[in-house]
Amino acid sequence: MIELVFATNNPNKLREVQVQLPKGIQLISLKDIGCTEDIPETQNTIEGNALQKANYIKTKYNRDCFADDTGLEVDALDGAPGVHSARYAGPEKKAINNIKKLLNALENEPNRAAQFKTVIALHFKGKSIQFEGICKGEIVHKPTGAGGFGYDPIFRPLNYEQTFAELSLEEKNKIGHRGIAVAKLIQFFRQNQ
Ligand code: IMP
Repeated sequence: MIELVFATNNPNKLREVQVQLPKGIQLISLKDIGCTEDIPETQNTIEGNALQKANYIKTKYNRDCFADDTGLEVDALDGAPGVHSARYAGPEKKAINNIKKLLNALENEPNRAAQFKTVIALHFKGKSIQFEGICKGEIVHKPTGAGGFGYDPIFRPLNYEQTFAELSLEEKNKIGHRGIAVAKLIQFFRQNQ
C-alpha cells in the first residue's frame, strides 16, 4: 500500500480524490501526519503556491504528497483576483464578501469572461510533477444557486445556462477546473503506480 499525503484541511476534497484513486494508494490527511500548523502560501502565482505547499510537506515530514491551489482569473481585471482569490475582500476569506467585491469591480463591464484554474503539485517517488485544470466561463450579474462554495454562485461555465452553484457536484467535477486537474493526477497514478 502506498501512502500519499494530500496537503489540504478540507475532508471533502480528500474523500473526493480518494474514491477515484486506484486501489493500493491510500490518501493521508495533514492531521494524520501531525501537521496542524498553517502551511505558508506566500507565492504570487497559483503554480507557486501549490508547489510551496507540497514542498513544505516533503521537506518537513519527508512524505510523498500533493497540494492544490485554485484561483479565479477575470479577463477584464487582468486576471484578478487570481492567486488572491481566497483573500480578495480581506483576510477573513468570506465568500459572500469576495463575491460582492467582484461584482462591484465588474459593474458596467460588458466583458464578463473568466476562468477557474487549479494546479496540483505532486512529489512522488523522487519525481516532482504539476497538473493543471482550467474551466472557462463568465461572471453573471447576480449570485444564483445554492450549491457549491466560494465563487460558484457567480460563475457560469461555457456552454451552460446555470452557474456552478446550480449544477450537481457530479456535473461540476466533470467539467470543473479541479476535476480536470484531479483526472490528470489519477491518470498519472494509473500509468505509474
Ligand atoms: P483554494 O486554493 O482551494 O483554497 O481556493 C482559493 C479560493 O478560490 C477560495 O476563495 C475558494 O473559495 C475559491 N475556490 C476554489 N475552488 C473553487 C470552486 O470550485 N468554486 C468556487 N470557488 C472556488
